[in-house]
Amino acid sequence: MNKSTISDELFLRAQQSIPGGVNSPVRAFRAVGGHPRFMVSAKGPFMYDEDGNRYIDLINSWGPMILGHAAEIVQEAIMQAIPNSLSFGAPTRKEVEIAELIIDMVPSIEKVRMVNSGTEATMSAIRVARGYTGRDKIIKFEGCYHGHGDSFLIAAGSGAVTLGVPDSPGVTKGVALDTLTAPYNDLEAVKTLVEANKNQVAAIILEPVVGNMGLVIPQQGFLQDLRDLCDREGIVLIFDEVMTGFRLAPGGAQELFGITPDMSTLGKIIGGGMPVGAYGGKKEIMDFVAPAGPVYQAGTLSGNPIAMSAGMAMLTYLRNHPEVYTNLEATTARMVSGMQENMQKLGLNYTINRVGSMFSIFFTQQPVVDFASAQTSDTALFGRYFNSMLQKGVYLAPSQYETLFVSTAITDDLVDQYLQANYEALQEVHNS
Ligand code: PMP
Repeated sequence: MNKSTISDELFLRAQQSIPGGVNSPVRAFRAVGGHPRFMVSAKGPFMYDEDGNRYIDLINSWGPMILGHAAEIVQEAIMQAIPNSLSFGAPTRKEVEIAELIIDMVPSIEKVRMVNSGTEATMSAIRVARGYTGRDKIIKFEGCYHGHGDSFLIAAGSGAVTLGVPDSPGVTKGVALDTLTAPYNDLEAVKTLVEANKNQVAAIILEPVVGNMGLVIPQQGFLQDLRDLCDREGIVLIFDEVMTGFRLAPGGAQELFGITPDMSTLGKIIGGGMPVGAYGGKKEIMDFVAPAGPVYQAGTLSGNPIAMSAGMAMLTYLRNHPEVYTNLEATTARMVSGMQENMQKLGLNYTINRVGSMFSIFFTQQPVVDFASAQTSDTALFGRYFNSMLQKGVYLAPSQYETLFVSTAITDDLVDQYLQANYEALQEVHNS
């Protein structure tokens, strides 16, 4: 049993000055009950909170910390950059180098623009797609999350669905009308939308592997079929690889599945833990972005030298160390097969989805292929499981509608500890 006295006090205090006590909703633990833990430091596989508890971290800052916390190569790059200024607001060599590196790594990207978050990346990408095609509508998938841009808060996943606001107040009817939604993995539904909105759809945007309704895998042929449909209809295909980029392969899900979209959005790992996003794609599309073209998008701190140094160090390491991906695959496969063995011993049969180092357990016996099937999960049971794991020192995503992210800092010994905790937690939540 770990204590949470100081975190509890801080959370009460935080609620007086910050909406809900947190700067991003899911952190508040609303969906799982209890109070969030306030963190002090983190190193490698572990995070340490205000009450002195240590956790094995399986979120890794929601993805960026693929090498574990406080990776030395990233920290050193930051230290080296600091004396040269924290921000210039003028171009730097590093921005050229990181652009070249991203173009080299990500198949769809011929030109790239750096921004400060995944949200900015997706908002900008659809603006460019609209400018390029001269069309207004976009198609997104139910349960996919693309940041908190107005157009995406329609049937949104992640924190939006966790808190019960998949269609947020504050988004105007006009914006909502331009966002069409289809169930994930349902090509027929997409075709129907495209037919009904002939020559009006600028872009189809999707997570090529979904992390934001829990982990959902594209079915065989789905990405290729979308690619073909977009080619036929002159629609810009956008892969939102904010989670999957540099994680599922050096070139993201598009490399893993061999399907090249027209545009891609990136975030998380690209900044090595600093606030960075990026969007890029075909030259002819990206040349619509100002000042090359008429679609406006800008940023005071975009291409920030400290953030670029962190990102450059992270991406260079990943490009030069392909064993990262084979190691992550092996570690995560062990975790998932161990969980399956645990369930078998306990007579349980829940669904686990995994691609590479991303996975989710859904508290349902149905296959989970879209948002409707994800919602058959017993979220109350998930909440009890989450809290039981937290008490055992394992930090999971505090919502059923999130994926876990494994880092290279998870050793075999930690996998054993995780599996032991998983066994005990599953047993506990079924006895309580
Ligand atoms: N797209 C996807 C697929 C995401 O998972 C997220 C955030 N989890 C975003 C966009 C938004 O990124 P950010 O939180 O950096 O704005």
